Amino acid sequence: MKVLEQMELQSHEQVNFFHDPETKLSAIIAIHSTELGPSLGGCRMMEYSSEENALFDVLRLSKGMTYKSAIAGLKLGGGKSVIIGNPKANKSNELLQKFGEFIDSLGGRYITAEDMGMTVDDMEIIKQKTNYVTGLSKDLGGSGDPSEVTSYGTYVGIQSAVQSKLNKKDLNGLSIAIQGLGNVGMKLIEYLMKHDVKLYVSDIDSSKIEECVKKFGAIEVSEKNIYDLDVDIYSPCAIGATINDNTINRLNCKIVAGAANNVLKDYKKHGDMLHKKNILYAPDYVINAGGVINIYNELGTYNKIDVFQQVEKIYDTLQNIFYESNKRELATNIISDFLAEQIIEDHKKSKASI
Ligand code: NAD
Repeated sequence: MKVLEQMELQSHEQVNFFHDPETKLSAIIAIHSTELGPSLGGCRMMEYSSEENALFDVLRLSKGMTYKSAIAGLKLGGGKSVIIGNPKANKSNELLQKFGEFIDSLGGRYITAEDMGMTVDDMEIIKQKTNYVTGLSKDLGGSGDPSEVTSYGTYVGIQSAVQSKLNKKDLNGLSIAIQGLGNVGMKLIEYLMKHDVKLYVSDIDSSKIEECVKKFGAIEVSEKNIYDLDVDIYSPCAIGATINDNTINRLNCKIVAGAANNVLKDYKKHGDMLHKKNILYAPDYVINAGGVINIYNELGTYNKIDVFQQVEKIYDTLQNIFYESNKRELATNIISDFLAEQIIEDHKKSKASI
């Protein structure tokens, strides 16, 4: 991959490669944009099959963070980092500290947080070397696990989609299929249970399904059959790329609204296909922005009530996206990208006019 060519293609500001021979740290930090504020995005540690794949991932993810923060109304740019290695075998305190030094060397242009393969404890070790870190425990002045806030935003987003698609103010009488009963999925169910909903659940971990059946009276669905259900809402809260050539034809729902990142396997094609099938899609990075709104608030004085109020804006943001999608006859994800780009452009213009 030609790095500068890719940066130009996707409009990245800066890509940083770091290596430390002692700790064997190999990391990339991609800063897509600092137009609205410092770039913020999680650090992912995983064994990539090639350096090219790691670079591809960090470029794609950092750009996604620019859009997510812009549309959430945050004064943040988009960035992301990857540490190439097995988090179980290759992670050490020294490696994380070195990574903290690298982050610090960027002088605040990039702020890190947890992503796959990283934990709150890891953030605390990174914090020993830099202040440009969020997603910290409550003991260190952070807000702890953000998944409750993400779940709340997803719940609010589902309500917004239901209002637009079904013209209903509450969720009573609706059927919802939740895929993934992890940190987000489980808490989302607690919110959904405030309404009289019929709940279908699926997870690769059978103990989580058992818990849901017992606690919420949910109906178990196999991992493969979740796409075929005749339900009002399919809520992907597990893995990415579950909307693809194979599943779209099988989907029998009216709404797709869940927290999972990168739900559309092919962003343009599968967003379009949902639109043409008349299934309302709440774009992933809009509906799951609760997490980034939460860590953004860690940068100032954290107040949980304020955070939840900010997250409630996801409702109106989605209303606007659905309205514009309908008016312009374009897929909702294309509209949300357009609106995010407009926010950034407007900011550039207002700076230029000062
Ligand atoms: P998690 O790891 O706690 O839970 C994921 C759950 O999905 C697990 O229970 C796992 O067993 C299950 N799962 C995996 N593959 C599955 C499959 N094929 N079918 C059914 N279930 C499967 O993760 P989480 O924190 O709950 O996050 C869920 C999704 O939301 C992820 O895509 C994540 O990137 C996204 N997200 C999370 C946050 C957050 O604050 N945690 C923020 C934004 C986006």
